[in-house]
Amino acid sequence: MSDITVDEFAAQAKAFLDANASLKTEAKAFVWGEGPDDAALFEEVDREKEKVELGRAKAWRAQRYDAGFAWITGPEKLGGRGLTRLHERAYNELEARYDVPDQGFFGIGLGMVAPTIQDHATPEAAAEVLPKMYRGDIVGCQLFSEPGAGSDLASLQTRAERDGDEWIITGQKVWTSGAHYSDIGEVICRTDPTMPKHRGLTGFVVDMHAPGVEVRPLRQMTGGANFNEVFFNEARVPDTHRLGDVNDGWRVALTTLMNERASIGGGVGGGGFTRLREMVSHFGLSDDPMIRQDLADLYIRGRILDYTNKRAMAKLAAGQLPGPEMSGGKLFLTENMRRTCDLVAKVLGPRLVADTGEWGTYSWAGYVLGMPAMAIAGGSDQVLRNIMGERVLGLPKEPGIDTVSPFKDLPVGTQRQGS
Ligand SMILES: Cc1cc2nc3c(=O)[nH]c(=O)nc-3n(C[C@H](O)[C@H](O)[C@H](O)COP(=O)(O)OP(=O)(O)OC[C@H]3O[C@@H](n4cnc5c(N)ncnc54)[C@H](O)[C@@H]3O)c2cc1C
Repeated sequence: MSDITVDEFAAQAKAFLDANASLKTEAKAFVWGEGPDDAALFEEVDREKEKVELGRAKAWRAQRYDAGFAWITGPEKLGGRGLTRLHERAYNELEARYDVPDQGFFGIGLGMVAPTIQDHATPEAAAEVLPKMYRGDIVGCQLFSEPGAGSDLASLQTRAERDGDEWIITGQKVWTSGAHYSDIGEVICRTDPTMPKHRGLTGFVVDMHAPGVEVRPLRQMTGGANFNEVFFNEARVPDTHRLGDVNDGWRVALTTLMNERASIGGGVGGGGFTRLREMVSHFGLSDDPMIRQDLADLYIRGRILDYTNKRAMAKLAAGQLPGPEMSGGKLFLTENMRRTCDLVAKVLGPRLVADTGEWGTYSWAGYVLGMPAMAIAGGSDQVLRNIMGERVLGLPKEPGIDTVSPFKDLPVGTQRQGS
């Protein structure tokens, strides 16, 4: 590992950013009515525009990678920089001050799939895939959920059957964010239905452009189509692209899920607290005691969430596993967003549902309609409460979860029909 200090590294990163990007102008004070007023959580994106934005995002990532700033903690032998999470954090904090192409396209691939590949793939597959992912040459997606398996992921039914040096995958995944622009996916399949449901699963890295992989977009109530159904019709995957041991896919999935909670961010969204405060002021409600109370509550809760996230990040940076901060932080985030929706609805009234063309009003509809998805993605509120109950409060596990019978005998998914 290189022994460059965080300060020396940050100076290098600043020189790179100064030479290749401009500082954000939005450090200016927020002014009601100026600039874009978008607040949507899952915005409607024109596919052509999305392609252009993806191209810009990839070009920026490649530039970062070639300069040594895109895989800061990665092993040097694979093209990473071999530095610590503190170096990585220093870069991210610096980059946040510059106007660079949106890197959201890589959130799932680099935040969840790549760390799983690093932990569980064969050395050949890791060497083949990871540098391309971090350089932005390829994008990854997460193929876990199915029509009959979401919170209860271990009930998934997509099959993988061995055929010599390959596996043949058949089944359906759903809610796959970004599958339509992804090149690879982490898929969890059932490889032995005679074992209990958490066993008999295996993970793979699948080529999204392979024959037998079909991606169909799903339209959401916000108007956007960010996620998809993915059908596997005898798609072939080489055994070298297996993640972990055969029938040990639950462990692989847990690695990804732990990173998922870590990668869902904080804040109230929709432009932040200042925008809410200015909206209240614009509509002459700054002296309304109930509205003031709501605003103060949101401000305090925003700070609590911020500190909770910082605590979790500090633990990660110190090489420890975060404890309840991840589940608790995600729960707190969605509750803050729900309270933001309530406040916005109180202040805007009918302007929230009728587009009058007035700046900063109807644009909140995309936030309010997108919010419920945030309370589901990355572990629903109810499931996270179960986790907090069991792991933090030490309450007994939920009754009725069968971890012993062969999966094929359980009345779940389409198997329920036979019961
Ligand atoms: C924005 C978004 C992006 C997503 N992206 C992806 C993706 O990229 N890849 C992917 O694989 N999946 C993705 N998902 C799917 C997501 O993981 C699932 O929606 C989630 O796991 C819930 O599963 P489900 O939709 O089948 O709901 P269900 O599990 O059927 O839950 C339905 C309701 O029952 C409640 N419930 C379920 N079990 C319990 C319990 N034990 N106790 C109490 N209440 C319970 C839930 O809280 C929920 O309210 C995404 C979802 C969203 C909203």
